[in-house]
Amino acid sequence: MQGKSMKRILFLLVLAAGAAPAWAESLALVGATVHDGTSRPAIEDGVIVVEDGRIACVGARSACELPDGARSVDLAGRHVAPGLVDGHVHYAQTGWIDGRPDSGIAIDHYDYQSQQASLSEHPERWHRAWLCSGVTAVYDVGGLPWTLKVDENGADGPVRPHYRAAGPLITHYEPVFGVLSAGGQDTFLPMDSDAAALESVAELAAMGAEAVKVWYLDPPAGEVEALDARLGLIGEAAREAGLPLIVHATELRNAKAALRAGAQMLVHSVVDQPVDAEFLDLMRAGNTFYAPTLIVSSNWRRAVASVRLGLEAPALDDPNGCVDAETRRVIGEADTFADDPSPEAVAAAYSSLEAAALEEAVARANLLRVFEAGLPIVTSTDAGNPLTVHGPSIYSEIEAMAAAGLAPAEILRMSTRNGAAAMGRLEEFGTLAAGKLADLIVLADDPSESASAYRSITHVMRAGELSPVSEYSAK
Ligand SMILES: [Zn+2]
Repeated sequence: MQGKSMKRILFLLVLAAGAAPAWAESLALVGATVHDGTSRPAIEDGVIVVEDGRIACVGARSACELPDGARSVDLAGRHVAPGLVDGHVHYAQTGWIDGRPDSGIAIDHYDYQSQQASLSEHPERWHRAWLCSGVTAVYDVGGLPWTLKVDENGADGPVRPHYRAAGPLITHYEPVFGVLSAGGQDTFLPMDSDAAALESVAELAAMGAEAVKVWYLDPPAGEVEALDARLGLIGEAAREAGLPLIVHATELRNAKAALRAGAQMLVHSVVDQPVDAEFLDLMRAGNTFYAPTLIVSSNWRRAVASVRLGLEAPALDDPNGCVDAETRRVIGEADTFADDPSPEAVAAAYSSLEAAALEEAVARANLLRVFEAGLPIVTSTDAGNPLTVHGPSIYSEIEAMAAAGLAPAEILRMSTRNGAAAMGRLEEFGTLAAGKLADLIVLADDPSESASAYRSITHVMRAGELSPVSEYSAK
């Protein structure tokens, strides 16, 4: 049977059942300023025609004919951009320290096992927060094996962000083994020998990982060369398995080792020193994506300070009410621990926050260097870490990128097109173009003028389904 007639029959069946799927009508978004996610100038008084969940036409009024019977939505005065993409999230983390027992903080208070069981059964908790914030695609760059099954789980309908996941992380840092384990599985895989490293890659491929992520901390003295070489071996095995190598390496030396191993994305900034010409050349040669994650470190340290000193948790930055009640509840308990309010702990908290500020200053300067070298940057929050909550954290990350000196129009591309490219999905989404999925956001403010414009989001569309963001807000 031809697709068309099959669709007609389905349409009649659906009409009979009283429901209207996205493809049952054409929709025309009319009158907005359209920012398409590329470097082309914005289209004033634009039209976007949506059919079957995809963009049928995008352009000026004269360029797009409105189909007969199309439902027209007047967006005069509004701005439309592609749905945002977050290049670094963790569905196995909660936005609070209860998701990071490796911190050693308040671990007796939380039940990591039941938390992980609940998160694996209910990924819609984070799907909803992301859509509510205008994010229509996320790249989960590390977690328990269940994070590879997110597309199969959850009570939500078909409306959810695109999701790509790396699964467990390969690392040489042994103290973390067994600390983030649940349901008999671990977040980490070993690389303590060449054979173990290759086996870890094979295991990832077998469990359905969509990337090979290496958590590459400073190698111990005396093992630097051997571990760098092993990282190269992992990169080779990943390429053979058809999986991108993505690496956590926040020191310049380690980041270069990652690039030599063929990393396709550095999932954090380099924070220990300015990046140099050699680093930029390696990035260019590998066409490597750079995920700055500017805000996560200071958020972590603010969370730790709250718990240690018994301070009220910092107010959540959640302009559209996207953060769910359970997340708000655990963060609200921050001041009940006061597990170490000694003067030494106060001093330690101060110096930790200072260190985070210094790190972020280096990260911001490096972001600008990477940008000026013309290399691809991907807006990335590292959400799921303490106080970097799923959803609205994207706003402060984007604002931090602007504070580093990037122009809002550039950040728009990094937050849409580049994210889709890093996920390997640019053919499907990331820019507004005929044939692509109709994933987009409607804003009151101009995102090419202000990096804060995303806070003014009114609607989100995923695969042609247009919803006010209030539909996804936390109840
Ligand atoms: Zn991360």
